[in-house]
Amino acid sequence: MLRAAVKEGTALGEKAKDIMDRGELLGDDLIMEMVTERLQESDVRARGFVLDGCPRTVGQAERLAKILGPLDLDLAIDIEIDTRIVLRRLAARRVCVDCGANYSTSNPPLINWSCDVCGGEVIQREDDSVEAISRRLELYERQTAPLIAWYEERHQLAKVAGTGTPDAVTRRMIRAIEQRRQRQVGL
Ligand SMILES: [Zn+2]
Repeated sequence: MLRAAVKEGTALGEKAKDIMDRGELLGDDLIMEMVTERLQESDVRARGFVLDGCPRTVGQAERLAKILGPLDLDLAIDIEIDTRIVLRRLAARRVCVDCGANYSTSNPPLINWSCDVCGGEVIQREDDSVEAISRRLELYERQTAPLIAWYEERHQLAKVAGTGTPDAVTRRMIRAIEQRRQRQVGL
């Protein structure tokens, strides 16, 4: 979403690019302004939506709940994984500079580090360095981990094991979503 806004040069995109170019983090306000704008588009109303990696703070979650009103989220999924495995995965991660597709050293693109999706260059992100990763994990513990209790209290949380292949994790997530839907229709 962020990449698209920057690419399209929207007012919010320009503002975000400025902040990121200075190496600073985007604040809750800007992130949630962007989410609000996107959630008003017609495809969202017709088909629903999945937010990946947002909200990241309790402040963002509160804003999101306010934006959605009585519709609210069906489910928040916490993908649980041991820190040692996170470190290993992040160190192996490679991303496409153009479309953001994810790869890893054990799951590279088919042709010589050009993206399978768009042909862009696939590289290791600067913020996937060891110091940057431990800084991000610290930030996670302080700002994002409290969301687990926040969503648990609201009976919106499902926990899913993040071990194994991406397909295995996907299957677990689908199962969690199906269980929630069955409960909602009272089966
Ligand atoms: Zn790409």
